[in-house]
Amino acid sequence: MPPVEKHLKISTERTGNDFRELHEWIDDPEKKAERHDITKIHEYGRMIEEKYGEKGLQEYIQHIHDDVKAKFEHTVHDFEKAMKETLAYFGVKEREK
Ligand SMILES: [Zn+2]
Repeated sequence: MPPVEKHLKISTERTGNDFRELHEWIDDPEKKAERHDITKIHEYGRMIEEKYGEKGLQEYIQHIHDDVKAKFEHTVHDFEKAMKETLAYFGVKEREK
């Protein structure tokens, strides 16, 4: 998942505000899983909107979106690497694309 600094940069580009406190809250190492839980978006979203307004709420959702995207890209990359290694191990040649 992107480090906090990356989220700050994305928020700054989108809104002119880095929402540092918000991104640090989401990525708190002790509560990370809970705060990325999409079933809690409604509950946390209300709280975040009260504190940071509509833009803050949007940046919270964007943070989770960007993390999901990065995580899946990473997973696909790892899978393709493992697949390639496994095929090579058994001498299966890669098909031309
Ligand atoms: Zn995160």
